[in-house]
Amino acid sequence: MSKGLKLFFSCDRCPAYCCSYANIGVSEADVRRLARHFGITPEAATKRYTKTGAEGTPVLRHQRDEHYGTVCRFLDREERACTIYDARPHICRKYPGSSRCGYYDFLCSERHLLDDEDYVATTDNR
Ligand code: SF4
Ligand code: SF4
Repeated sequence: MSKGLKLFFSCDRCPAYCCSYANIGVSEADVRRLARHFGITPEAATKRYTKTGAEGTPVLRHQRDEHYGTVCRFLDREERACTIYDARPHICRKYPGSSRCGYYDFLCSERHLLDDEDYVATTDNR
């Protein structure tokens, strides 16, 4: 995203819905960055942190989650924050790729309608 672009979403106020996507793709460069971060080989990082996604390419492994069913294994489920922020894959860096986030707009709308600033739109109540 270009610097100086005004953003109409706040990840600090969102329980990280985008980290629940099933196919969070990782490139070879992403794997090398992960390997450097953890001080292991790219082969070990591939095995430990990725699996083959629906399209036959590597994606991040998941863990169970109370809100969205499953989320990326690197999400801190209490803090709702990335535990490998500096080493996160390229796709996570550029998401959502515009000044608005569709989920955040939806979340704000639901919170406003329900008069509940802590409401979380989950896979159960969407
Ligand atoms: S879903 Fe949108 S608002 Fe929520 S963490 Fe992701 S980018 Fe941020
Ligand atoms: S690497 Fe971090 S930002 Fe990317 S999906 Fe996982 S927890 Fe979210």
